[in-house]
Amino acid sequence: MDNGDSGDRISDQILSALVKIGTLTQERAGIARRVKSKLSSGKTIIDVVKELQYATSEQVKEVFRSNHLSLKIGDILVEFGHLTQERLRSALDIQKTQTGKQLGQIIIEHQFMSENDFLDALSVQLGFPFVNLSVEELDTKLLDQAPIQWCRSNHFLPVRSEEGKVVVVFADPFDKASIKGAQKLYGANLIVAISAPGSIENYLDQFASGKIKIRSTVDENTAIGIVDSMICAAIDKGASDIHMEPMKDKLQVKFRIDGLLVLYKNFPRETISMVTARVKILSKSNIAEKRRHQDGRMSFEHQGNSYDLRVSVYVAILGEKIVLRVLNRIDQIIRIEDIGMQPKVLERYLRDVLSVPSGVLIITGPTGSGKTTTLYSCLNYIKKPELCIITAEDPVEYVMEGITQCSIDPNINLTYEETLRHVVRQDPDVIVIGEIRDNYSADVAVHAALTGHKVLTSFHTEDSISGLIRLMNMDIEAFLISSTVVCILSQRLLRKICHHCGKPYSPSPFELKVLGYVPQDIGRYKFMKGGGCFACNYTGYKGRIAVFEMLVLNEYVREAILDHKSSYEIRKISIDTTNLVTLMEDAVSKAVIGITTLDEIFRCVPRLIPPRPIYEINRLLGV
Ligand SMILES: [Zn+2]
Repeated sequence: MDNGDSGDRISDQILSALVKIGTLTQERAGIARRVKSKLSSGKTIIDVVKELQYATSEQVKEVFRSNHLSLKIGDILVEFGHLTQERLRSALDIQKTQTGKQLGQIIIEHQFMSENDFLDALSVQLGFPFVNLSVEELDTKLLDQAPIQWCRSNHFLPVRSEEGKVVVVFADPFDKASIKGAQKLYGANLIVAISAPGSIENYLDQFASGKIKIRSTVDENTAIGIVDSMICAAIDKGASDIHMEPMKDKLQVKFRIDGLLVLYKNFPRETISMVTARVKILSKSNIAEKRRHQDGRMSFEHQGNSYDLRVSVYVAILGEKIVLRVLNRIDQIIRIEDIGMQPKVLERYLRDVLSVPSGVLIITGPTGSGKTTTLYSCLNYIKKPELCIITAEDPVEYVMEGITQCSIDPNINLTYEETLRHVVRQDPDVIVIGEIRDNYSADVAVHAALTGHKVLTSFHTEDSISGLIRLMNMDIEAFLISSTVVCILSQRLLRKICHHCGKPYSPSPFELKVLGYVPQDIGRYKFMKGGGCFACNYTGYKGRIAVFEMLVLNEYVREAILDHKSSYEIRKISIDTTNLVTLMEDAVSKAVIGITTLDEIFRCVPRLIPPRPIYEINRLLGV
C-alpha cells in the first residue's frame, strides 16, 4: 500500500517542527529525509531521527505535544502504521455521514483500531498524557466556567489545574479548532491530554442531561454526603480499604489501592463525630459506645451493584479510627489460568494439586498477599454439580454460586470452632477452612483430609517451607502432616509497571549484588521502571501481579518431615528434588520481562537464598 505523498508531507512537517524548536539543524533534517527515502521498510521518520540519534523520544514527543504541527490525526495514524489508507478513507466517509463525530471515535466504533491501540499510539508514541476520567476527579469549578454546549461542540473536557495550567482532555489532540476553543476559556498554555474518545462524549452527555451531578452539588457539608461520596470514590478507584483516621486538626481519609495507602481527602475536625455516627448507623454498630472497639457490616449500592463492607471501629487516643473493607467485588474472581502462574507451575498445580480428590492444600502469605483471591480461583476451578463444597470463612468475601458458604459471626456465638465441628457432618467432598489460626483448626484440616476429603485452607507464613515448619510446631503428629499435605502454595502481590510511562532501565550494580548477579547475567533481559504519569497517579505502577512459590510434597520431603529435619534441610531437599522455584525467583522471572520492578521485589519478597541464574529459573518455569 503506497502512501508516499502523505508520508512525505508528514515527514516534512515533523522535520521542520523539530528544526523550529531547535532540536535539528537544517542539515540533519536533510540527512534524515534522504535516509528515510532510501529505506524500503515501514520505518517512520521518527524512527529514523531516533536511530540517527538526532533526537530523543522525549524531544520527538514534545513536537507532538506542543501542537506546532498542522497534521490530521488520521494521517498520523497511517504514517505510524496503525491504520491503512483504505480504512482511513472509509472512516472519513463515515464521518461525512455522521456530523459532529470525531474521527477517533469512528475509528474505534467501527473497529478499525482497538481503543487500547488508539490510546497507546497517542499517549506512548506521541506523548500526550492520558487521563482515566472519573467523576470525582473532575474539578467542576472548571466546568462551571464553560457552557457544556461549548465543550460538546469542541469535543473537550477540562479535568483539573496543575501548577497554574489547566489539563484538558481532547478526543482529537491534533484538532486545532478544538484546542483553540478550549484555549479561549483556559488560556494558551493549557495541557493537551487524551482520554478514551467515547468517554469524553459520554461524560459531556451525562453532565448536560444532569445524569451525573457535578461535584459542587454533592453536599459535603452533611455526614451522608461525605460518607456516600467517599465510598463511591473508593469503589471507583478499586480500593480494597478505606481508612478514616481522626487527627489533632482534621479527619484524614486514605484508600488502600494496589496494596498501598494513598490520601483521598482531609475533612475539618468538626466533621468527625457526625461522620463516625453515620458509619456506625450504616453498619448497625452502637452509636453511644465510644470507649470500646466494635465491628459490623454494611451493604452499599453503587451504579447498580451491591457491595458488602466490613467495618472496624478502633478506639484510639484522638478518637475512633474507622476502617472499611470492601468485600465481594464480583469482578475479582479470576480464572486460575489468569492468576499469574508461569506455565509449568500452572500445569503441575492443575494436574498434581487441584485434580487430586483428597489431601490438604495450604495457601500462605501475609495479609493482603492475595490468598483469598487464589482460594476462590481454585474453588471456581474445582466446583462441579456432583461435588459438595462447604466453607467456614471469617468472613465470606465473595459469594459464589454452587457452594455452601458460612460466615463466622462470634457476635451470635457462631464461632470458628463450633462451625468446624459441624462442617464435617455435612457430608462434604471439599472443605474450605478460611484460615488455620490455631491447633484446633489445623487438627480439623488434617483429620478431614485423612478421611478422604479435599481441604483448602490458608495460613499466615512467610514462604512455603515455613508453612510446613509452622504446622510441624503445632502439636500435630509428623506422620499426619506428611501423609495429608499435598501442596503449600506461598504468594505475594507485586505492583505492575504502568504501561503508559514504563521505560527500560539498567539495574544498578548494588541492585544486582542483592540478587547475587553480575551485569553479564542480565545482559539480554529487559528491566523496566515507570516514570509516573496521569494514568498511574504518578506512582509508575498500575495493577498488581501475583508471584508464587509452590511446594508439591514428594517422598523425599515427606521423609524429611518424618525425620524432623531442620527448615534449612527441608528447604534444600525441596529445591533439589521437587523443582521448587522460590518466590524471589518467580518474581525475578517477571521483572526480567518488564512486568514488575526490582524495587517491588525488594519491598515484598523474602530474601532467604539467592536466586539461581535467570536461564535456569526460566527453564524450571517453562517460559
Ligand atoms: Zn504511568
